[in-house]
Amino acid sequence: MSDLSVELTAPNGHKYTQPTGLFINNEWVKSKSGEKITSINPTDESEICSVYAADPEDVDAAVAAARKAFKGEWRDMASTERGELMYKLSQLVEEHKETLATIETWDNGKPYSVALNEDLGEVAGTLKYYAGYADKIHGQVIDTTAAKLAYTIREPVGVCGQIIPWNYPLAMAAWKLGPALACGNTVVLKAAEQTPLSILYFANLIKEAGFPPGVVNILNGYGRKAGAAIASHLDIDKIAFTGSTATGREIMKMAAINMKNITLETGGKSPLLVFDDADLDQAVKWAHIGIMSNMGQICTATSRILVQEGVYEQFISAFKAHVAATSKVGDPFASATFQGPQVTKTQYERVLSYIESGKSEGAELAAGGEPVKDVNGKGFFIAPTIFTGVKDEMKIFREEVFGPFVVISSFKTEQEAVDRANNTTYGLGSAVFTENITKAHRVARQIEAGMVWINSSNDSDFRIPFGGVKQSGIGRELGEAGLAAYTNVKSVHVNLGTRL
Ligand code: ADP
Repeated sequence: MSDLSVELTAPNGHKYTQPTGLFINNEWVKSKSGEKITSINPTDESEICSVYAADPEDVDAAVAAARKAFKGEWRDMASTERGELMYKLSQLVEEHKETLATIETWDNGKPYSVALNEDLGEVAGTLKYYAGYADKIHGQVIDTTAAKLAYTIREPVGVCGQIIPWNYPLAMAAWKLGPALACGNTVVLKAAEQTPLSILYFANLIKEAGFPPGVVNILNGYGRKAGAAIASHLDIDKIAFTGSTATGREIMKMAAINMKNITLETGGKSPLLVFDDADLDQAVKWAHIGIMSNMGQICTATSRILVQEGVYEQFISAFKAHVAATSKVGDPFASATFQGPQVTKTQYERVLSYIESGKSEGAELAAGGEPVKDVNGKGFFIAPTIFTGVKDEMKIFREEVFGPFVVISSFKTEQEAVDRANNTTYGLGSAVFTENITKAHRVARQIEAGMVWINSSNDSDFRIPFGGVKQSGIGRELGEAGLAAYTNVKSVHVNLGTRL
């Protein structure tokens, strides 16, 4: 057992027991190959610890456990009881939120106050929200003729594979576990190899809450091995993925092997439009939150700002001043820090390469554009970066950067703003700033995106559906809409008198 957990002391002095195994059937096991993933602290590049990484054989074992649970106790459990287990889990998250937030900050680099108040609040809130749905998921009686009774039943899909990204490790898991469990499915969930730790601590809470063995199985593992094994597994019925568009496309292909149900939440290059009549102070503050929070590592980040020419210069100078005053880069455990390090060296280098691209394509670097090395001489810190005068054909206007990196451009008319906002392969979030209510709703309808924020940005709420159009994804998470992907509708026709 000693090999399956390790005693750790986090940089904030918090001591806890970190599980390091694979969580299958409510037990901790080693991977069959013994392969491990070493987690790196992005703040100082030190090793935190190593955890077991699943191979396809381990995925098979997790799927077998999930299938057995699906056919057993879980399937027959009263829906109210299922909801109670989920509610208990949400309470346990609340009780353990300091430890979970500590792990999240250490492993991912996000500011501790954000991990604690935003991420963990969202995890507990989402599980509680879907706990309430567990006994309210039902079919319909459909009137046809007196000779027939027709009704529908909403059945769980079965064993669900869930592949999680590294930007919100626990929150993205909760978004997927909530509806899956409320609907009576069982789960094999794989965390991202960049952030493998918090989900293992969370796994112990699943057991403590009283979920039967095999209902939730949690694996770490590399995408190309464990992730691919999940996406292509013949005994998994549904796959839910959040991550890059390129990986989403591959998962879609692999899932075709047995026609799995799929939901994908992928990349974005979300526009934020500021009209001449906007409340400029509010537009500046929301634009900053929309791109600079979570180190810009948000799929819905409003990373393309389009400002009407009447307020363009004024917006840029106010935005630059606000970023300089607010986006304090530093140790994520320090209370004054707004922006920690990028999650990995790979992401750090990726953002730096886009900075080079912006410069070489002739955009104007208005702020940042360089690593920050004065936190501790190490770590993956990047100064909040603003490019202005950006043209639509530039790479930095078109491609998702996933960092504290924003491009700003001016427009003349409403139609031009809408056309340029839509001139992208993505369609995830979008924001509109205007004091004209008619214009706000008109533009909201014309934007090709899954979500529009009027006079705000990145206002995520577990009660409201979340997802994209175009190459930003398929399906919706959160809200009542998030349940749709986790049930199949069965129609029952009862013949009440048609005789042959
Ligand atoms: P990024 O490129 O930002 O690292 P990815 O979209 O590749 O993000 O990763 C998101 C999740 O998808 C992670 O859990 C990762 O392990 C997984 N993943 C990556 N590649 C594959 C793949 N080929 N098949 C299945 N899962 C994958």
